[in-house]
Amino acid sequence: MESLSIGVVGAGQMGAGIAHVMAQCGYSVFLSDMNLAHAQKGHSGIRSRLDKQVEKGKLSAEDAESIASRIRPVDGLTELADCDLVIEAASERLDLKLDIFRQLDSLCKAETLLASNTSSISITTIGAVTQRPDKVIGMHFFNPVPVMGLVEVIPGLATAQSTVDTVVSVTEKLGKQAVKSRDKAGFIVNRILMPMLNEACFVLEEGVASAADVDTAMTLGCAHPMGPLTLADFIGLDTCLAIMEVLYKELGDSKYRPAPLLKNYVAAGWLGKKTGKGFFSYV
Ligand code: NAD
Repeated sequence: MESLSIGVVGAGQMGAGIAHVMAQCGYSVFLSDMNLAHAQKGHSGIRSRLDKQVEKGKLSAEDAESIASRIRPVDGLTELADCDLVIEAASERLDLKLDIFRQLDSLCKAETLLASNTSSISITTIGAVTQRPDKVIGMHFFNPVPVMGLVEVIPGLATAQSTVDTVVSVTEKLGKQAVKSRDKAGFIVNRILMPMLNEACFVLEEGVASAADVDTAMTLGCAHPMGPLTLADFIGLDTCLAIMEVLYKELGDSKYRPAPLLKNYVAAGWLGKKTGKGFFSYV
């Protein structure tokens, strides 16, 4: 298993986190994005997080160096052709993901397993645009990847049991717990979590309470480690909106309609922590 070579598509907060934990576990990783500059940006983010761990005495400088050196930023998808497992973590857009999977299917060797870190999109639909739906699977990590202990494993209708077994054993090797979900919009966590975050947006929009008080109420009143609006900012408001749109479309119940305030924040480009402004400020 150590010898598996891993490709990661998308070097944003999730892709960089996935590359980080894979390299930490000894895998060699190709980190790809729209272009080399984006991939390199993801790689330097990983380096600075490793440096912080060294400063805090949690990691030796040699280990940090060897983890960082196991990750190679690459331009586009071509260099992923010989990977054993490619994990796609690009933005949460159906058209984009289908395009990436079509390209990966034609580029990668026949044995390559193709996983998506999608938060909500159907794995069966993604698998169906490839000639290898038996080797396509959902592998849903949580943010921040180095800290969070869960991976949802989602077989599509055509996914082979051997694909599930490999992905579960990679997950366990990372020291994370795999939980299997059927291929239904939002899977387990986001089906339950996102409507709560969306409801917090409605509560704010209706003037029931300030953003700070919504978060204080849920941290102190429900013992949540962080408030829903902070969590939405950390996830990315564009990602939250995309997930709510999928839940609303796929499950067809008005309880999943995205809050207009959430839509407006995304329209304004206030996407949360990654842009410095969301419900709270991060500058
Ligand atoms: P992000 O905005 O931080 O990163 C997305 C990355 O995709 C960017 O680096 C972007 O340049 C890249 N990208 C866009 N088009 C691309 C293309 N054609 N080829 C290659 N890369 C491309 O978003 P994120 O939070 O990292 O989310 C990525 C995926 O992970 C989404 O599917 C999201 O639903 C899922 N996810 C997010 C979270 C979270 O908490 N943010 C948790 C679990 C899963």
